[in-house]
Amino acid sequence: MIGFVLGVIAIVLIFGYFGLPILWWTLAAGALGWYLSAVANFSFTTNVVLGAVFVVAAAILNIPLLRRKLLSDRVLAIYRRILPDMTQTEKDAIDAGTVWFDADLFSGKPDWDKLLATPAPRLSAEEQAFLDGPVEELCAMCNDWEITHEHQDLPPHVWQYIKDKGFLGMIIPKQYGGLGFSALAHSAVVMKLSTRSSTAAISVMVPNSLGPGELLLHYGTEQQKNHYLPRLAKGLEVPCFALTSPEAGSDAASIPDFGIVCRGTWQGREVLGMRVTWDKRYITLGPVASLLGLAFRLYDPDGLLSEKKDLGITCALVPTSTPGVNIGRRHLPLNAVFQNGPNSGKDVFMPLDWIIGGPEYAGKGWMMLMGCLAAGRAISLPTSSVGGVKALTRFTGAYARVRSQFKTPIGKLEGVEEALGRIAAHCYMMDATRVMTAGAVDLGEKPAVLSAIAKYHMTERARACVNDGMDILGGKGICLGPNNWIGRGYQMAPIAITVEGANILTRTLIIFGQGAIRCHPYVLREMRSAKEMQGAEASREFDDAFTSHIGHVLRNAVRTFVYGITNSAFAPVPANAARETRHYYRHVSRLSAAFAFLADMSMLAMGGALKRKEKISGRLGDVLSMLYLVSATLKRYEDQGRIREDLPLVRWAVRDALYRAQQAIDGVLSNFPVKALATILRWTVFPLGMPYRPPLDSRNHECAKIALEPGAARERLTAGMYVPKGEADVTGILEAAFTATIACEPIDEKLRKAVKKGKIVPRPGVDLGTLAREKDLISAEEHALWNRKEALRKHVIKVDDFPQDYGRAEAVAALEGETVKMKAA
Ligand SMILES: Cc1cc2nc3c(=O)[nH]c(=O)nc-3n(C[C@H](O)[C@H](O)[C@H](O)COP(=O)(O)OP(=O)(O)OC[C@H]3O[C@@H](n4cnc5c(N)ncnc54)[C@H](O)[C@@H]3O)c2cc1C
Repeated sequence: MIGFVLGVIAIVLIFGYFGLPILWWTLAAGALGWYLSAVANFSFTTNVVLGAVFVVAAAILNIPLLRRKLLSDRVLAIYRRILPDMTQTEKDAIDAGTVWFDADLFSGKPDWDKLLATPAPRLSAEEQAFLDGPVEELCAMCNDWEITHEHQDLPPHVWQYIKDKGFLGMIIPKQYGGLGFSALAHSAVVMKLSTRSSTAAISVMVPNSLGPGELLLHYGTEQQKNHYLPRLAKGLEVPCFALTSPEAGSDAASIPDFGIVCRGTWQGREVLGMRVTWDKRYITLGPVASLLGLAFRLYDPDGLLSEKKDLGITCALVPTSTPGVNIGRRHLPLNAVFQNGPNSGKDVFMPLDWIIGGPEYAGKGWMMLMGCLAAGRAISLPTSSVGGVKALTRFTGAYARVRSQFKTPIGKLEGVEEALGRIAAHCYMMDATRVMTAGAVDLGEKPAVLSAIAKYHMTERARACVNDGMDILGGKGICLGPNNWIGRGYQMAPIAITVEGANILTRTLIIFGQGAIRCHPYVLREMRSAKEMQGAEASREFDDAFTSHIGHVLRNAVRTFVYGITNSAFAPVPANAARETRHYYRHVSRLSAAFAFLADMSMLAMGGALKRKEKISGRLGDVLSMLYLVSATLKRYEDQGRIREDLPLVRWAVRDALYRAQQAIDGVLSNFPVKALATILRWTVFPLGMPYRPPLDSRNHECAKIALEPGAARERLTAGMYVPKGEADVTGILEAAFTATIACEPIDEKLRKAVKKGKIVPRPGVDLGTLAREKDLISAEEHALWNRKEALRKHVIKVDDFPQDYGRAEAVAALEGETVKMKAA
């Protein structure tokens, strides 16, 4: 009996681990049955009955026709009944985009060799020259205080420079006069601008993201492309894209804005057109746009275009000079000054060929939007967040070295070091994710799930980092003015969180919700066979997907358990992985199997209700996200040639993410609705308890040191950002003070010792440098160096102040103006 039980366990573990086909299981079951019958001395009748049962079961499981008729067709019938119908907009969202390494992570068996064989994304010489030339110059032209406070906009010469140099046409191919940049270059430009001026970055990023340019490229008619793309590329048109309405924010597919197909007069001729009414808000560049990409629902009550009365969401290009189009008013999004505002129109008549793609694309707007969303979402907000965090790493690190309290640079006080180390390590992981995701876009992917992961986690980490940065700066970060380089970033952090899919929705609905269908190897096939196929075709496809799905669950369950009891010792690693990072690949492989298994068990236990169990699906999405972030970090370490100096950043970031993934799994298990199953799942996933711990303090110390020390590691960590050279600049002077502080540290040490030994007696109103020089304890050269450092330091810690009635007169005038306008209205 013991032999039999051991045999069963061995077969389940070995066959399950290797995912062997059903025939092998059948043969093994037959062998075990034969063994049992021999040792248990069954009677002849029992043997015959057991043998018959075995033969029938083996035939049903191994003969596809029998299996379909007796098993999978029945499951298919139940599946069809319980599978909720999808709306067209849901279908469009599911069908949009592609899957990439997310599918590997979802399979429970990431193909590391394939990932590491993917070439490291690189900029072309032309793209690098653009970054070193026009982008550097644009950064130098931007003074954030002047932009945000005095102009409340980019100054006209900056706008003109942006247009003239083609910044608005980075994604437009060269044949139309655009820059034709790769996604990586597009991302590098936005990142560099973000390290200098969020207003410039956003103004450049929006026309290159989802909007007229992108939609025209994919769906425009030749005539539309030839007319608009060269104009957009040269900045002769300023585009915006208007989808959001007061009644439809996150649920954008429910926009109430509408158009009615009708006849009307256009440029003196009677043409078939549409009369469109809309009321949009939050539209970036809307107040200054010349070309409005407009989304509305198109109706054809008189059947002028087709028999369908409700054609669906439609996207059109509307010149804002068209009579009846109202633009110009602006919002003040947390006092950020990039152009953003409402726009509207009532019964505005426009010809049908304003529809992007022409009349045959009427009603296909949602499909078009979903199809184009991923590329922009993979770049704009993740990238601008990385830019912000690079600037934080560099400048907060510098400030923490320049600013002293308790006779110590604040960066060396453990509490501050903790926050600084976090910023530095997040920065490494975020940049790794930026590059890998942009690289995926350059490989031709439209990564629907990965772009959501990048958007959500990069913006959240930027918010966490800017909070840490504000804490490090203390009052210096709070008081706005020309000498405050962090406060605006802090104010603006929630903007990135809210736009392009507000983060709560992105986390809870998109990452796991779309991932579970798109990235799962079998779910989409099962759904399609159930909903889109009929008869024998559906039966064959479902049978194949369903039986493979069962094998997949079994394999992941066994692997999860085996990896759990062996501390991931047998989990796959890439053939050429570095010794120092091998174990991290193993842990990701382990958690990937656990995640895949848990995902299937959650779908089994909760079915369609999982969609509404957003706390569970959000946590599952977190696990997938952490595994992706770790994968990107490990790939960067390889792509950059395994630089040992950067290892602390890799170690902190990976350990932090693995810990977060574990906590998310724990959260799923603790809240799993079927308690008995939750217990079994916990034994399988964590058979020896939860193994991951948060990063060590010593590692955090090493990360903070990188931000506090000048050198190659700091340069690499903040590579691609704008570093102002002159001391007239708010961050330029910070860099100079940083260098001077470090150069003077030996002199400061001399002064400290001199005070301690009583060689200098501090005197009120006289600085230590002068006293030391008087006693000839430091040379004239050292004194000059020390004086310069002190002057720079004093400038850096300076906080702006303003006249007591500052801004009041302007505010009163503005309010009075508004009141007059409201009364007039
Ligand atoms: C500065 C700025 C610039 C913008 N630029 C543009 C632009 O250029 N063009 C454009 O068309 N739009 C633009 N938007 C609109 C932006 O995309 C929307 O703000 C966003 O989609 C969220 O809509 P909402 O603000 O109405 O929030 P709501 O939809 O009211 O959502 C409120 C909260 O509920 C959450 N939520 C909603 N549904 C769910 C759900 N099912 N599950 C879980 N949580 C959910 C959201 O995550 C959010 O946290 C911009 C917005 C801002 C603030």
